[in-house]
Amino acid sequence: MEQQRFRVGILGATGAVGQKFVEVLEGHPWFEITALAASERSAGRPYAEAANWIGSSEIPPHVAAMEVQEAEPGFNADLVFSGLDSSVAGEIEAAFARAGYPVISNARNYRMQDDVPLLIPEINPDHTRLIERQQWDEGNGEARGGFIVTNPNCSTVGLVCALRPLVDAFGVAQVQVTTMQALSGAGYPGVSSLDALGNVVPYIGGEEEKMAAEPRKLLGTLRDGVVEPAALAISAQCNRVPVLDGHMECISVKFASPAAVEDVRRAFLDYRSPIDAYDLPSAPPRLLHVFDDPRFPQPRRHASLGRGLTVSIGRIRPCEVLDVKFVALVHNTVRGAAGGAVLNAELLVHQGYLKKRQRAAVSA
Ligand code: NAP
Repeated sequence: MEQQRFRVGILGATGAVGQKFVEVLEGHPWFEITALAASERSAGRPYAEAANWIGSSEIPPHVAAMEVQEAEPGFNADLVFSGLDSSVAGEIEAAFARAGYPVISNARNYRMQDDVPLLIPEINPDHTRLIERQQWDEGNGEARGGFIVTNPNCSTVGLVCALRPLVDAFGVAQVQVTTMQALSGAGYPGVSSLDALGNVVPYIGGEEEKMAAEPRKLLGTLRDGVVEPAALAISAQCNRVPVLDGHMECISVKFASPAAVEDVRRAFLDYRSPIDAYDLPSAPPRLLHVFDDPRFPQPRRHASLGRGLTVSIGRIRPCEVLDVKFVALVHNTVRGAAGGAVLNAELLVHQGYLKKRQRAAVSA
């Protein structure tokens, strides 16, 4: 049966996140890569030559041969995914939105803007209604239908997926979180080997601020077209460790109403996401996986659970300072970046926000 697919472009296609987009979109039933863009250093070259490929599978042949373009509107695409460096994402993503493209971004530039959804489909799918407040035009009042939707910071994703069931069941007043973040989170080439190997770097610029602010918007309540931030205090300490993929987070929580360790474990096990019924192609079987073996989860063994979209929880126990503590593990370039963005786009298709732009059909 012939089925129309959405044509997708990738901005920042040569970077760590851009490459993960290429991997997770391979064979996707709804999306087909039709355009790739990066900096002028890469533009004009075949993708296989421009990208220093770090993926674990081969570059799909039809992508390897595609010419990388400059990151300017005029793309053969219905929507664009962005893995752009934040130093350039602000202007480039706005240019695409003004030109009428839906932009599904990983960059931090628009995450906290009032009318831009900061989205995790399983956590706050209703926040996509903010799109209706966006007005991207060339200054002439004639909007062409473009909009921007963002993913949270990669560590924030793991934290918020773990907090959602606890906020719903007991209320959460305070959170302390210490992260051990993988090298792939710093992009390519990222942290130099002399800094990374056999070492821990106790500073990741801007990360602690993002982890304190973004969860309040994600767990906030949409009322009259405005997100009222959740009232919880978060203290974050972020560290870079010599792990390839997967951010580990040690989390302590103080609840608004009393909860014992077994209540918390049950809340994680019983959590059902609001998108379970939507049958989205990338949605993992379970958002959360709970380990009872105290040695787990571990990044090398468990970061790729649920094709990298499941968040793993373990070591749930009493906290001597707050109420309960546990660890969470999230795949930073999949759930925390490209995979999460593709799931965002699938939700937008389901909700009717993504439409095919005028074009000849691409058949599958
Ligand atoms: P990266 O490996 O450094 O890749 C950056 C990409 O941006 C490259 O494709 C690069 O193209 C492109 N670029 C740089 N300057 C440009 C310009 N002037 N015009 C057009 N393209 C330009 O970084 P990354 O780790 O993939 O991260 C990408 C974005 O995702 C960042 O905003 C980051 O904060 C966010 N993010 C990353 C992760 C993660 O785990 N890595 C997780 C969540 C969010 P060239 O190759 O041509 O230079």
